[in-house]
Amino acid sequence: EIETAIKVVVVGNGAVGKSSMIQRYCKGIFTRDYKKTIGVDFLERQIEVNDEDVRLMLWDTAGQEEFDAITKAYYRGAQACVLAFSTVDRDSFDAVESWKRKVEDEVGTIAMVIVQNKIDLIDDAVVQPNEAEALAKKLRLRFYRTSVKDNLNVDEVFRYLAEKYIDE
Ligand code: GDP
Ligand code: MG
Repeated sequence: EIETAIKVVVVGNGAVGKSSMIQRYCKGIFTRDYKKTIGVDFLERQIEVNDEDVRLMLWDTAGQEEFDAITKAYYRGAQACVLAFSTVDRDSFDAVESWKRKVEDEVGTIAMVIVQNKIDLIDDAVVQPNEAEALAKKLRLRFYRTSVKDNLNVDEVFRYLAEKYIDE
């Protein structure tokens, strides 16, 4: 039996919750001060999609989001991508399109999804719901709102990417 393995990269500005999301999904934990991994690394989780075993390998960056040379190696071979921003960080929302371009410049068109994390902080939101929806529509991407803290919608994001990858 051939097993499907998918390399998933999680990109976005610093502190939007990328490392936390990977930890949450693969280890089931949330910590306020997650210790940054040294260098490029990934965690994995296996799920079943249409009776098929799918191994998702979630690649994390060690907070070196700003250094292109490192991130290029990190994107290599990626088959799916989470474009993440934070509910309480306007710059992170404004940067989503440029993250998409960076990834596509390296790996071409792959399965992607836009994720607005920290939805538990909605009372302090600096992005209006219609703005986020308009961006998703413009980029023709599925859009999820997550709280890694409250474990809301995280599984759904990665299941969607796995299904999208398989359906392609
Ligand atoms: P990264 O730089 O994108 O990898 O972000 P981190 O995963 O290091 O998270 C940055 C901070 O945001 C940490 O203090 C996390 O605990 C916190 N954080 C992550 N996800 C959430 C969330 O859904 N809600 C809240 N309130 N905080 C979060
Ligand atoms: Mg990180």
